[in-house]
Amino acid sequence: MAPVTYDKASCVYAGGVRAVDALDLSIDDGEFLVLVGPSGCGKSTSLRMLAGLEEVSEGAIRIGDRDVSGLSPKDRDIAMVFQSYALYPHMTVADNMGFALKIAGEKKPEIRRRVAEAAKLLDLEQYLDRKPKALSGGQRQRVAMGRAIVREPRVFLMDEPLSNLDAKLRVSTRTQIAALQRRLGVTTVYVTHDQVEAMTMGDRVCVLDKGKLMQVDTPRELYEHP
Ligand code: ADP
Ligand code: ADP
Repeated sequence: MAPVTYDKASCVYAGGVRAVDALDLSIDDGEFLVLVGPSGCGKSTSLRMLAGLEEVSEGAIRIGDRDVSGLSPKDRDIAMVFQSYALYPHMTVADNMGFALKIAGEKKPEIRRRVAEAAKLLDLEQYLDRKPKALSGGQRQRVAMGRAIVREPRVFLMDEPLSNLDAKLRVSTRTQIAALQRRLGVTTVYVTHDQVEAMTMGDRVCVLDKGKLMQVDTPRELYEHP
């Protein structure tokens, strides 16, 4: 069973804007799926409906065999990374990364274990005691990813996570994210307006325009049959 299915899912905002129009899409287990398209085409809204931050107005979205409409954001087993990292400035990197687990009532040794493991994967081990303001943009972005992966979510969502980084850092971070996703094997939906990011990172790329799905295929197929 696909971990995520959009079944003619639409989002109509107050005022009648049809931001996402009858989206049909099935995401495979462990897949890295990229949603790409121009600003305003409905990428964020598609992601936000899945995360429970927007309502599904028509059609349905399922996680496994469960309709998301009946699931609270907490029960969706999803973690999301945004373009603004929104780290807690007064907390250390380690505490930022462990915070969601602490709130969820996880035991301290288990939190320490998962934080240490994520820090290793993300090359953040020597920064665990620092505050976010003492980190570079790329390091902050990695902390935000660490905070999401320690929860070991079923689905990992990223909304333009590289847009606050300079061009050089975007390239190296792009490679790190793709490698991390493959190592974790976590089903991932990644939003970007950047064609190069889409074509280099995704197992499949889903092209949206004006709320509609135009094409979904592997980068290779899209390149050869645009
Ligand atoms: P993208 O992520 O591709 O830039 P969005 O999903 O943010 O696109 O937006 C899709 C469309 O929905 C746009 O026309 C946008 O103006 C509109 N929109 C987004 N959020 C809202 C909102 N809260 N209320 C009304 N319209 C919105
Ligand atoms: P306290 O909550 O009193 O600080 P601990 O020192 O056992 O208790 O820390 C539990 C916390 O482990 C979590 O909030 C986690 O984020 C953090 N943590 C702190 N330092 C480290 C570290 N060096 N390696 C891994 N996790 C750490």
